[in-house]
Amino acid sequence: MDPAPLRMGKRKRIVLIAHDNRKPDLLAWARYNKGTLARHELYATGTTGAILARELGLEISLFRSGPLGGDQQVGAKICEGEMDFVIFFWDPLEPQPHDVDVKALLRIAVVYNIPIACNRSTADFLISSPLMGEEYQRQLGDFDRQLLPPSLAVPPQP
Ligand code: PGA
Repeated sequence: MDPAPLRMGKRKRIVLIAHDNRKPDLLAWARYNKGTLARHELYATGTTGAILARELGLEISLFRSGPLGGDQQVGAKICEGEMDFVIFFWDPLEPQPHDVDVKALLRIAVVYNIPIACNRSTADFLISSPLMGEEYQRQLGDFDRQLLPPSLAVPPQP
């Protein structure tokens, strides 16, 4: 059976998340890439999003703060096919009270083959990809086609 594709539009639905020690790094990255980010639909966990919106004037839809369930909300959106892209600057040097949620989000992003950048250089490479401005079909590879909501399944090309 062909792997089931998932369609990303030209305008990507991007979620931005940073743990506290990584927020300055994400803010600097987002400031540098503000023009590109503004062409996409932006989402963020509560505190990260509030900072980015205040500092950069970007329009961002906010989930709850990460420790209060924001990471889980993002994971659920990925499962529903409502997120295309994740920039998640998690902190490798500090334990987090919501470590299990962080792990779950990283896992589900891999299951659904979501592009995910966990550091600045990866984020640079991702955002400068020509694919950012094009449609793209994510493949789920060996994962079960039946995981997909029917509305997202794209029939195989003849
Ligand atoms: P915050 O959450 O943006 O609300 O700080 C980020 C996280 O800890 O996952």
